[in-house]
Amino acid sequence: MRNILLVLSGPSGVGKGTLKERLMRSDEFVFSVSCTTRAPREGEQNGVDYFYLSREEFEKRIARGDFLEYDEHFGNYYGTLRSHVEGRLSEKSVILDIDVVGALNVKRCYPDAVLVMLLPPDVKTLEQRLIGRDSETAAERENRLARVRFELGKQGEFDYTVVNDDLSEAERRLWKIVTDEKNRE
Ligand code: ADP
Ligand code: 5GP
Repeated sequence: MRNILLVLSGPSGVGKGTLKERLMRSDEFVFSVSCTTRAPREGEQNGVDYFYLSREEFEKRIARGDFLEYDEHFGNYYGTLRSHVEGRLSEKSVILDIDVVGALNVKRCYPDAVLVMLLPPDVKTLEQRLIGRDSETAAERENRLARVRFELGKQGEFDYTVVNDDLSEAERRLWKIVTDEKNRE
């Protein structure tokens, strides 16, 4: 069985973080903690959910070549640390929770990466989930929803799509993908 680089992507509020947490309950994966310039949400921890950096620190790290990929969206930088992916795959499978542009950039560096786009049952449900999460202002939420059409338009470039309607069913489908991919030569 091989270790895989599993990239969970999809629109904001679709359930990436929730499903990532479910997969992480097993001992199969390490999570690649990204860097961001956005402020921590209530309950988030530096070094666990993200490394929280100022724009200046983030730009220094870009110049140093620390990021495997990075992108600016929703008014903030987000980036995957090379050190959290390179070298680690020889020991364990790695999960990334990153946006659609980042996912496609990762595939360029790691053609074997397994790209999964999570899809909402419909856009109204996505909006309800973002409202329910209550972690953004109404304006920030609108900003996130404005990107959905663009993101969903990229699904043809992904290896798999999984509809996150019933959470347990989506988790089951993800595990099937993981098992199939780990067993692939
Ligand atoms: P993302 O990481 O993609 O932005 P989250 O994992 O934060 O999304 O999920 C957004 C909100 O939707 C959270 O409040 C989460 O509890 C909820 N949620 C996730 N998956 C489901 C689901 N299948 N059914 C109902 N609510 C869900
Ligand atoms: P949030 O602010 O909700 O935590 O994340 C916003 C978006 O940024 C989500 O789609 C999330 O997957 C994405 N994201 C998180 N980390 C990274 C990263 O390292 N690179 C890229 N490109 N996107 C990321």
